[in-house]
Amino acid sequence: MTAAIQQLRETLAEVDDLKRAAAVLEWDLETYMPPGGVEDRAAQLGTLGRLAHELFVSERTRRLLEAAEAEVAGDDFDSDDASLVRVTRRDLDLDTRLPADLVAEAARAGAANRSHWQLARERSDWSLFEPSMRQTVEISRSMAAAIGYEGRPYDALLALNEPGVTTSQAEALFGELRAAILPLLRDVLDRADRVDDSVLDRELDTGRQLALSLEVAQRFGFDLERGRQDLSAHPFCVPFGPGDVRFTTRVRGTARDSSLFSSMHETGHGLYNQGIPRSLARTPLWDGASGGVHESQSRLWENVVGRSRPFWNYLFPVLQSAFPAQLSGLDAEAYYRAVNRVRPSYVRVDADEVTYNLHIMIRFEIENDLLEGRLEASQVPEAWDAKVENYLGLPPPPVADGPLQDIHWSQAPMGSFASYTLGNVISAQLMETIRGDIPALDGQLAAGEFGPLLDWLRARVYIHGRKFTPSELLERVTGRSLSATPWITYAQTKFGDLYALD
Ligand code: ZN
Repeated sequence: MTAAIQQLRETLAEVDDLKRAAAVLEWDLETYMPPGGVEDRAAQLGTLGRLAHELFVSERTRRLLEAAEAEVAGDDFDSDDASLVRVTRRDLDLDTRLPADLVAEAARAGAANRSHWQLARERSDWSLFEPSMRQTVEISRSMAAAIGYEGRPYDALLALNEPGVTTSQAEALFGELRAAILPLLRDVLDRADRVDDSVLDRELDTGRQLALSLEVAQRFGFDLERGRQDLSAHPFCVPFGPGDVRFTTRVRGTARDSSLFSSMHETGHGLYNQGIPRSLARTPLWDGASGGVHESQSRLWENVVGRSRPFWNYLFPVLQSAFPAQLSGLDAEAYYRAVNRVRPSYVRVDADEVTYNLHIMIRFEIENDLLEGRLEASQVPEAWDAKVENYLGLPPPPVADGPLQDIHWSQAPMGSFASYTLGNVISAQLMETIRGDIPALDGQLAAGEFGPLLDWLRARVYIHGRKFTPSELLERVTGRSLSATPWITYAQTKFGDLYALD
């Protein structure tokens, strides 16, 4: 008779196989599938999702987990076995609390609402999306009630993405950020003419852009023996296993929309996945610690590294030799300044580092107001416009560039936006520790040497996979709990320098 932990691993491996197989189909859906495949693909994904769920919440898994819990009692908290059992228990409790009917309803509604969202966005007409929004709120409330919460319904939804993080903790963090960002933004906008980004409107050949993006991804340490870059309308990264991590990028005709930053972002996700040890594969531990911690890696490589002065000292000559005519007469410093220009705009995915978190606050506040009944679906555009004016100082946008810009609200449950800001905050907190440990970092980045940084992240973050909650991981790696201070210091220093603020 095999030990329970071994039998549990075998069952969890099958659950993981089903989920990764579904991920391959989803990747294909976003990249190469012809439009005619939609209906069949939805059925295939539905079947795989149901089989994975049934196997995971089955009586057999439950019995094996109980027996395994007895076996690992007393094991070291950090050990693979103890962590596997602990995280599986957390997942199983959550999945068991969500009734299968509700999960199926969310999947059905999500498929239908995705096309309502597309149409509403095309026509910039909120009334076409309002019933879908109402449905998303209702399903989110039902899910929160099923999961259970003590304080706020959003707590239950956060439990799905950010274990251990509470709504009031996120609110406090947003409050600190807001108090620092709004005055910084005012100061920057008073001196807006100090940074010129007109160079970004020059046209760059898309094929050469893509080749350069892939070269940078490899230079960062992304392994093409175990991964690929492809194109899709909305860039994403999806891991199928330690030997196959895919990311996508998008490319348009100018440097402003260049594929480089989207590729560096997704490469960050990809490096995280490629760095999780094979020993954790085919278990619930082979993934990032949370949505926010995953996002911290995309932000770290895209912004903290990819928009830094040392990085541009390295990359500008490479870029210039790829586009000699377009970039003649410029230097690294000019390009570094251009890619960091701060400009309030309507669209989150185009936002600069200073305004990005304000975009997330708008969504986080509206989600909480909807969940707690202070706001009706019909009032979302009005609430949106007021916040856009308040935070970004802009007049009301067309709804297509307002509450209809993101796909997220066509899918229940709500509650995933907070992870983006958590990612920014965590990236800065990690970088503060990294700078202490690697004093030569800037020189290395300027020489195009990313190995020491990647090794640090692999040894302290990636290696643990999903063993720890975000706060357990941060305590362990940085010696303190989640804090807004490192990001605020980072932003004030960087943009204070760029705009010569006193
Ligand atoms: Zn991301």
